[in-house]
Amino acid sequence: MLQTRQTKQRIAILEAMRSNSLDHPSAAEVYSSIRKSFPKISLGTIYRNLNFLCSKGEILKIEIPNAPDRYDHRISEHSHIFCSKCGRLFDIPGEFSVLDFAEKVERGGFILHSLTVTARGVCSECRRLGESALECRPRKSAGRKILPIKPSKKGKI
Ligand SMILES: [Zn+2]
Ligand SMILES: [Zn+2]
Repeated sequence: MLQTRQTKQRIAILEAMRSNSLDHPSAAEVYSSIRKSFPKISLGTIYRNLNFLCSKGEILKIEIPNAPDRYDHRISEHSHIFCSKCGRLFDIPGEFSVLDFAEKVERGGFILHSLTVTARGVCSECRRLGESALECRPRKSAGRKILPIKPSKKGKI
């Protein structure tokens, strides 16, 4: 079957998104991943393809205030939480409870088709890093009371 260059690019984008290497990527992240196979592709083409895939319901666009849009190949009902420290977007599975909200919306004369929630917070990894950074200070100043730490092989943290 003959595939146009456009179709090939689109398939490559979808495949990159469905691989584990790209998790809720921004267009720029898709761009740098796709460029490995399509060195001449432009960021504009990436945007066009992402918008096309969104319009076909193949992927979702997640708008985050004051941050670049993210794209998601998981199109089942789920919500997101955005880590304001590392900028990663995490899935919160399942439906968001919209009962109260839906009632209010319908009272306002709307028909609610869907609702996705993007929350902001700090992920567990960043929290752990934050906590260890805090722990370091008193340990440093505690002088001799520091517990011996096993020397790491290459002096990495
Ligand atoms: Zn984080
Ligand atoms: Zn998601």
